[in-house]
Amino acid sequence: MPVSDFEAVIGLEVHCQLRTKSKAFCACPVVFGAPPNTAVCPVCLGYPGALPVANREMVSLAMRVALATGCTIEETSVFARKNYFYPDLPKGYQISQYDRPLATRGTVAVRANGSVKNVRLNRIHLEEDAGKSMHEFPWEDVPALSSLVDLNRSGTPLIEIVSEPDLSSADEAHEYLVSLRRLVRWVDASDGNMEEGSLRCDANVSVRPKGAAALGTKVEIKNLNSFAHVKKAIEHEIERQVAALESGRPLVQETRLFEPDTGATKAMRSKEEAMDYRYFPDPDLGVLVVDGAWRRDVAVSMPELPEARAARLQTAYGLPAADAELVCLSRPLADFYEAAVAKHPGNPKAIANWVLSELLARMSDADRQAGRLPVAPETLAALVARIDDGSISGRMAKELLGDLIATGRPVDELVKEKGLVQISDEGSIRDAVLKVVRDHPEQVATYRGGKAATFGWFVGQVMKALQGKGNPGVVNRLLRDSLDKD
Ligand code: ADP
Ligand code: ZN
Ligand code: MG
Repeated sequence: MPVSDFEAVIGLEVHCQLRTKSKAFCACPVVFGAPPNTAVCPVCLGYPGALPVANREMVSLAMRVALATGCTIEETSVFARKNYFYPDLPKGYQISQYDRPLATRGTVAVRANGSVKNVRLNRIHLEEDAGKSMHEFPWEDVPALSSLVDLNRSGTPLIEIVSEPDLSSADEAHEYLVSLRRLVRWVDASDGNMEEGSLRCDANVSVRPKGAAALGTKVEIKNLNSFAHVKKAIEHEIERQVAALESGRPLVQETRLFEPDTGATKAMRSKEEAMDYRYFPDPDLGVLVVDGAWRRDVAVSMPELPEARAARLQTAYGLPAADAELVCLSRPLADFYEAAVAKHPGNPKAIANWVLSELLARMSDADRQAGRLPVAPETLAALVARIDDGSISGRMAKELLGDLIATGRPVDELVKEKGLVQISDEGSIRDAVLKVVRDHPEQVATYRGGKAATFGWFVGQVMKALQGKGNPGVVNRLLRDSLDKD
């Protein structure tokens, strides 16, 4: 965003697919990538007279997200029909929730410019997904310009998480999504995969003169399906709105579409009003009642949440805040960390360093999110234990890591096999030191004459004599003793 007298105001509506086995209102399985129209039934095909039944697991998963965001779970909420026509919506309406959502008022903690911002949630409501229109096909017998509809996705359970307009930049919106994705995965409510459409987002963007109290005219950018698109679309939209206002052109409230090819947004339609949808309570579904027993069942099954866990890692293991935060990137990663520390409780900081540098560097982003680590926690614990007891050096341990990952064999076995035993015994190291000092009188004179920088050369010579296996700490100490004393 160019330097200007305007500030951006952003609110996000995030659609998140819940991780249920079956669909929202029928018994069809939720599948991804199956042949078209193979996971369908009269309910999700919208046959007249077919009756929906709400999936209890769907509601429980939505409640997990509500609890994780500090929302109030409403004792009663209502499914409503949102009426519109589209080829991928066979019933002619989407079952959603309107004025009586499942959960209201929560917050999501977002890291922004080194501090934490609590972005307020307006609501979390349940709804079903539509099907998918296809315009390109792998089959040759489909005539040109055809569109076909795949209804496998129809009736897939979603929640919509609606934020208040509390975000003020594209970066903040991005961080909000990162936090939200971590949270829905953390509580096992969703796989959070943007690529597979499990997480989609509409961005509402407006700008206003800096410091103004009133909100500006907003534009809604529909269906952003990657983190990069969200960021680009918002950046572009802020620029477009500021440019319009600066040149005196008024903005219109409308729905716009992001075009990945150009990185720009394009007008799609003027904003629809709630009235256009003729919302009304779905007569086929009774009021959704969440009683105290159900709420308690869900509450007691909740894991320690990421913020709390990061705080505990700091106090329990003395980790710096930034490290604790990184270890809590995903729940499996935090679990891995604590499992490794349990096996080698002596050095939690070193274990964190290994996780955050060597291990994460060897993992793809998807592996990091899913917490698929390349070695077992016991293996990392054993490796750090061998460094700590002086058996191997940090450098040897790094060398060993590739083999540990490739073979999955025990640390001690590989250490032995590779002859990677570090020499820590002072007798052998002192012998090597004395020999180097004796054999190089000229260099010793140079060093003692004030060229302290040549110390490294002596370390190199001693290490060479020890085939690189000398304990660096001991080598340094004995060399200093010998060079500085005599
Ligand atoms: P609508 O009735 O148009 O759907 P809502 O009040 O339900 O609008 O808000 C939808 C989303 O738009 C919410 O995430 C909200 O935070 C956001 N929003 C509302 N007004 C603005 C605004 N002026 N600028 C940016 N975002 C806004
Ligand atoms: Zn079905
Ligand atoms: Mg709305």
